Amino acid sequence: MNKQWESVIGLELHVQLATRSKIFSGAANRFGAPANTQACAVDLGLPGVLPVVNEEVIRMAVMFGLAIDASIAQRSVFARKNYFYPDLPKGYQISQYELPIVSAGKVTLQVDGDARDIGITRAHLEEDAGKSVHEGFSGATGIDLNRAGSPLIEIVSEPDLRSADEAVALMKKIHALVRYLAISDGNMQEGSFRCDANVSVRPVGASRLGTRTETKNINSFRFVEQAINYEIERQIDLLEAGREVVQETRLYDPDLNETRPMRSKEEANDYRYFPDPDLPPVVIDDDYIEAIRRELPELPEQKQQRFMAQYGLSAYDSNHLVASRELADYFEAALAAAPGAAPDYAKSVANWMMGELSAMLKREPCTLADSKVKPAQLVALVARIADGTVSNKLGKQIFEALWEGAGEVDEIIAQQGLKQVSDRGELSRLVDAVIAGNDAQVQQYRNAPPEKRGKMIGYFVGQVMKQSKGKANPKQVNELLSEKLG
Ligand code: ADP
Ligand code: MG
Repeated sequence: MNKQWESVIGLELHVQLATRSKIFSGAANRFGAPANTQACAVDLGLPGVLPVVNEEVIRMAVMFGLAIDASIAQRSVFARKNYFYPDLPKGYQISQYELPIVSAGKVTLQVDGDARDIGITRAHLEEDAGKSVHEGFSGATGIDLNRAGSPLIEIVSEPDLRSADEAVALMKKIHALVRYLAISDGNMQEGSFRCDANVSVRPVGASRLGTRTETKNINSFRFVEQAINYEIERQIDLLEAGREVVQETRLYDPDLNETRPMRSKEEANDYRYFPDPDLPPVVIDDDYIEAIRRELPELPEQKQQRFMAQYGLSAYDSNHLVASRELADYFEAALAAAPGAAPDYAKSVANWMMGELSAMLKREPCTLADSKVKPAQLVALVARIADGTVSNKLGKQIFEALWEGAGEVDEIIAQQGLKQVSDRGELSRLVDAVIAGNDAQVQQYRNAPPEKRGKMIGYFVGQVMKQSKGKANPKQVNELLSEKLG
């Protein structure tokens, strides 16, 4: 990227809350039902109905606020945001405006080894709108109102981010957090976690912010990264050509990897916000907030500290393992399946998870929840490598077999004859045969100065391993070879 420009990014994340019913009605809050079967009169704002706030959304918003060290408003107010759109037939969205429930929080990111605090301006509660459906309609647009009235928390960051990478890191961190708190399923394909990216650029060293664009409704980490990088380049090109950035709302098109204008940006006063006369202010007290604080689950940073203390893992390994609740749970489930030896196995289990398992999940592709190798199987494999029954190399073959469903670890070792050969007599015979069959290399070795021999011995070890089909105990083979080659 051009060195004279600095990019500035702020995110707005729309996170669907995993409640059973909607934010202001008793209708089901569920994804995937037949179109127009999940919204009731309240969600549609029909005349004569009154919304009542679902207490669960208050609890969830407070949990989130506490988890990001924010201030929690003891009095927050729902407001009407007025606009017309086909998926919002009642003509206004109930949101929070002047008095959001959560404000002034922060999330700490690790950027190139340094900790950086990103300000969270606010997190407010609001209802979702319906959806326009284009698929299956020609020359017309369908409207599905199932999502109308689904609870959302909108999380707004300060313009503290300086690159697409940082923006994605913040998004991932908040994604992990809402999953830890179990307030959202975070399912991005289903639209439970969507991002609007506000991007501007300014000359390096400038203190005033540049004119921003807002790219709406991006639903994957990769697309957020691509959309932001595209916007940064586009804006720099405009400014370098002596033109101006227009403040507007844009859409990202993943097929073409570009953003396109959608509409000129409306100002807050276009929405004619006013307090919703149908809903009283939400008033909560300290006791309520403290009760929620006591019930907070262990959060990623605390879990990381515990993994380092309890299992002796490095900051790097433990940071990786707490990146999602699923990973952390898998890790702990594995260790719980190997009582007693747990601390010894922690590093190996972590390595297998970051190595083979993660590669396999990418290759399939599938999620950790659908992993065909279960935590207890992984730790059983680690145990067989640790006690010398099989080599690390053959461990990979066993891992593949486990994935294919060939049986349990010990069965696979027996069936495929993978047991490591550690019998001295047997290894001796193999070593002798290799020495006898490689006269030239043996001469070379014996003529070489001692400092070169260490490297040369690798050739013989390789031959023995090959003869034994990978089963010879490499440590013992090394020792025998050093002895016998003299
Ligand atoms: P709205 O988009 O509803 O008008 P705000 O004006 O509060 O709301 O801004 C929303 C988001 O835009 C925030 O995440 C904020 O950090 C970000 N933002 C504001 N100004 C800029 C800017 N000049 N460049 C990049 N991001 C910005
Ligand atoms: Mg906005």
